[in-house]
Parts: sequence; structure tokens; C-alpha cells
Amino acid sequence: MIAAGLPAWFTPACDEVRAAFAADRLAHGLLIHEDPGAGGLELARWITQLVNCRTPAAAPCGECQDCRWIAADQHPDVAMLKPEGDSSQIVIGAVRDLAAELSLTAHGRGYKVAIVMPADAMNHFAANALLKTLEEPPPRTLLLLVSSSPSRLLPTLRSRCSKLRLAAPSRDAAAEFLESARGAGPWREALDATGAGPFTLLDADPAALAQLRGETLDTLREIGSGNVQPPAVAERWARGDLATRLACLESWVTDRILENGAIRDVTHLSGSVAQPNICRLFEFSDAIRDMRKLSHTSINKTMAVEALLWRWARQ
Ligand SMILES: [Zn+2]
Repeated sequence: MIAAGLPAWFTPACDEVRAAFAADRLAHGLLIHEDPGAGGLELARWITQLVNCRTPAAAPCGECQDCRWIAADQHPDVAMLKPEGDSSQIVIGAVRDLAAELSLTAHGRGYKVAIVMPADAMNHFAANALLKTLEEPPPRTLLLLVSSSPSRLLPTLRSRCSKLRLAAPSRDAAAEFLESARGAGPWREALDATGAGPFTLLDADPAALAQLRGETLDTLREIGSGNVQPPAVAERWARGDLATRLACLESWVTDRILENGAIRDVTHLSGSVAQPNICRLFEFSDAIRDMRKLSHTSINKTMAVEALLWRWARQ
């Protein structure tokens, strides 16, 4: 989709890869450590274009057949490995198929490339199988591992890869990018709602996210001032888009912590919750994070939400 013309926050990473490739010292394995939603997959596609472009002087040109095939995920020498179906894991069979594919001669004149995303979705057996390919890479092959949690990767796999960092852009840069990609909308509020980078919002409805954030934070204010009791909202939150509500709460609390406990922005929260102390913010932040982890399990969500909100209600 977006490949040749990447936004400015990609520049340091792109420059690093371009210099390594020009000096013929590009590693066989690259680990792209992206902040969530910063665009790790887009960077992987850009690197794939760089090494396969038919116009080396202008690579990646974005216009040759190879560049266009890569942008459309249709290049015969590029494989994408990701969790299939309902599974959250990449399994050994998929990695073995990939290794067999990489050992074949390329259809074109360029590199055979495998993009693994998220690389931390590989289970232990899959990661070990990929390690073999990294240790004895077929010539002119490139493995691109994309992860926002590289510490969850097998250490031996990590150490075999050259690291490439892709940090999230500022909120202004992210909003500007989304505006040019999707048109005008409350992108800043939508970004605040999820706390993630812009690439997670490319298909999102910014108005709906902004509204959910406003309503979630209004409710938090009411709970903090004692006007609303947690049981009155817990069931509704548990049934609705709980993951987004928790993301809204976490990004709000994180911002307050970054302000070092001094609440200056009282657009959404005012009155008795406007001055929570820093310890209370940290405790609430930990509780939200725990809840986000648990919300993927079979816990009783209504009870868990209620318990979480009581922590905010108790002063
Ligand atoms: Zn090209």
C-alpha cells in the first residue's frame, strides 16, 4: 500500500539499511523493533523493494514491476509469515515450508525475502526451525523479523539478527499522516484513544473512537467524584468494546503520569479527579495493564471491570 514514499519518521531506519546495502554488508536477518503501529510491515516492504528494485540508482523506485508487486504483496520471491486463522501462533510447519521455499532459486534477479510478523508469534519450535535458516542462509536471501516485543523472541534468534529500530512518531506527525491517508477527522483524539501508532488506525472510524474515549473518560470522572458507582457501568463496559476502553484509560493515565501528576489539561476531567497524586496514578496504571492482559482470558469481565473501577472510586 504505502511503500516507496514513507513518512519522515522512517528516515533514520531507511538511511541505515540503505547505507548497509550500498556497502554490501546487509545482514541476512534483520530484526525490526517497531513501536506498536509505527509501521514495521511498511518498513519491511520498503527494504524488500530496495533489494529487488529494477532501477538500482533510484531504488526503491516504487514504479518498476518488482516494486509494484511488493507493494501489493504479490511478488513471487517474497513470502509473508504470520499467524493463520484463529491461531495467535506461527507454527513449525509454516517455518519449514518457508525454509524450503527460500532454498529454491529466485524467480527474478533479486533477493528472496521472508517477512515474519509478528516475529514473537513464533512458538518455541518454529523459532528454532527459523534459527537453522538464519545460521546457514541460502545466498541472496533476506529474513525480516518484525516485532514490537523483541524481548519475547528466542535470545539466539535475536542475537543472529541485525537490529533496526522504528520508533513511533509524535502525535502531530501521526495525525498529519492519517489526515493525508484518510482525510480530515478527529485523529488526535482517536490516537489518544488507542495509545498506539497511526498504522493501527488506517481502517478505524476516528469519530467513533473519539466518542468512546470522551464517554469513557466522562464516566471515570463521575466515578471519581462519587456520582456514579462502578457496578452501574461494569456490565456495559464488559459487553462493549472493552479493549478500546482499557486502551483509552491506559493512554490517559500514562499522559497524566508523564505530566508528573500535575493535571493541566482538564478538558475531559475536572473537579474532584483533577488532582490525583502520582502514586495513585501508578497504581491505577498497573491495574489497567493487568486487566488488559487478563481481558484475553476467560475471566468474568464484569467483575474484573468493577474491581478496576473501584480502585479509582476509592480515594
Ligand atoms: Zn523499483
